[in-house]
Amino acid sequence: MGLFNKFNEIRSMIRTVENKVYGEKQDYSEIYERNLQLEREIEERTKELSIANKRMLSLQHIWDMMNSAKPLQTVLEAVVNSLQGEMGYLHSNILQKCEDEDGEYMYILAQSKDITIQQVNEIVKTPMQLRRLKYAPGSIFEQSLVSRKIIQVKDFKQVFEPILPDWTKDIHKKILQNVQIKSIIFIPLYTMKKPFGWFCVYSSREELTSAESDFLTIFAQQIEMAITIADLFEALKEQAVTDPLTGLYNRRYFEELLEKEVTRAKRQNQPFSVIGLDLDFLKQINDKYGHNFGDLAIKTIAEVLKNNARSIDTAARIGGEEFNVILPGIDSNGAMIAAERIRKTLAEQELDTIGHITASLGVATFFEHTDNIDELLELTDQAMYMSKRNGRNQVTLATPITETSWQEIAINTFVDILSKHNIPLDAKLSKELKKKLEKSKDSNAPKETLYAVADTLTSTYNPLHIQGLVKSKVDAAVCLAKRFDLSTEEIDKLKIAILLYDIGNLMLPQELLQKVAPLTKEEQNHIKEHPVIAAREILKPISYIQDVIPIVEHHHENWDGSGYPNNIKHEEIPMTSQIILIVDAYFALIEPRAYRDRLTPEKAIEEIQKDEGKKWNKTLAEEFITIIKHDFS
Ligand code: GH3
Ligand code: MG
Repeated sequence: MGLFNKFNEIRSMIRTVENKVYGEKQDYSEIYERNLQLEREIEERTKELSIANKRMLSLQHIWDMMNSAKPLQTVLEAVVNSLQGEMGYLHSNILQKCEDEDGEYMYILAQSKDITIQQVNEIVKTPMQLRRLKYAPGSIFEQSLVSRKIIQVKDFKQVFEPILPDWTKDIHKKILQNVQIKSIIFIPLYTMKKPFGWFCVYSSREELTSAESDFLTIFAQQIEMAITIADLFEALKEQAVTDPLTGLYNRRYFEELLEKEVTRAKRQNQPFSVIGLDLDFLKQINDKYGHNFGDLAIKTIAEVLKNNARSIDTAARIGGEEFNVILPGIDSNGAMIAAERIRKTLAEQELDTIGHITASLGVATFFEHTDNIDELLELTDQAMYMSKRNGRNQVTLATPITETSWQEIAINTFVDILSKHNIPLDAKLSKELKKKLEKSKDSNAPKETLYAVADTLTSTYNPLHIQGLVKSKVDAAVCLAKRFDLSTEEIDKLKIAILLYDIGNLMLPQELLQKVAPLTKEEQNHIKEHPVIAAREILKPISYIQDVIPIVEHHHENWDGSGYPNNIKHEEIPMTSQIILIVDAYFALIEPRAYRDRLTPEKAIEEIQKDEGKKWNKTLAEEFITIIKHDFS
């Protein structure tokens, strides 16, 4: 019995111990479970904190970028790149909405650099950032812009098909297969209350949490701010009138003032002058003493200009080391004195470390030298460069552009041609013409002599030539050139070319020119191509008309390429040559020839019209016919 009792006692003790152990075991496992739960929560919170931190850093990054003076494009690229990768975003870009004459469109203003865009570009061939994207009404883009809401889209076809004309099933399939994007999020961008475009984020996840949506909204607001700041900065720069280094007016303001001065000068019939100044050897100063001393030299010039100007004069820094001064009411004598004073004052300055500096100056006067604003600046520049060429540290007055300069060139050319005796011309006539030309240099009507000589020379190979026609040709050609806005310089070359382009005819055998019977193919070619070649040959040795030779050389090239000698076409043919071709053709038609009567102007115009699109283009023919109808019939 004792043993049985003992056994029971021991069993009960074991049960108690068992129960205790089991109870403790349960306690332990509960604690363990609880700890595990806590750890999981801590991990979650840490993850959230880390995401929040990353988002903060992204925003911080945008702020830093906005505070840097980098261009908008760079800022936005850094912004979209900062969103890459870590937050599960595979790609992001900023699209801008634009409009031009062809309608509304979109283009990628900035995009992140990543594998995803590389893959997309490979599939669509033309890189996305180079594309003009269609802005289709009703598209997801319009929807997000109008509703001003974030829109998430999972169907790529819905996004890309309306904006890419070359979006095909094949491309669609490849995108789905190769690119990990699960959804695209569109956040509309507004700047200054106006729709600007979209911030688009390409996500690897299908869901969009509200926290994520809030974050992207804040992110987009930062982008909007960056764009607004850049726009304001641009506007401010636009409005600026002074140059920060020198405090002088800048180029933009100078140009505005110059235009006003021209209006005033014309209204009051008073001259004004422009002094152009360029620092001598600035590069050497920079190289030897450093950029800061180069700047010092520039600032010194600005000071000298300010101190030497009257209150109504305006000095401007129009380029790195170029300055212009407008002197209202001052003629070239006065401006030369002012420029000389500036030059002298500058040369007398003693600068820290650098010592003395000098400048080259040019002076041009409105009315006296030209009444064209662009020409005035060009002349000032040319005069300034003349000062440089002649040894720097000096002032040069512009040489006026006058009618005599092209006439002088033409007279000298004729004299040279006649003196060289390489044209088969009667010696007596040659001598007589030369004398006439030389005498005309001192007369006030050199033009008349030039035309008369050209008429006489033409008559030697074309006895039916109508005297006075050369003048008409020059006048018509000049009218036409002006309608096509050719520069004065081009027009001067054209005038000379008109007098010379057929000079090669002097080399043709008389019997060929006067032949009434139909010409053989060989004769035709000879008569066609030889004069152009001859003219080029005759003119080649005359150094000062080298820039006229190409005009002569191409005056038989047709618009459609069927002309000669080089078969060039369209805009390849110099405009001046195109003008000569049509002028020559018309005036030949209204002159009689051995093999035909002269045509009436009406009939000649009809002939000109027939060759539209072949010998000349329609615009040229139309303008020419207008001129002929108005001024030459
Ligand atoms: P030249 O007498 O023929 O005018 O010689 P240059 O060396 O003055 O002229 P060049 O045109 O060869 O060089 C102009 C130099 O001016 C080159 C450019 O780096 C420098 N420059 C332009 N703007 C600035 C500026 O704002 N500051 C400084 N320090 N240098 C400038
Ligand atoms: Mg210089």
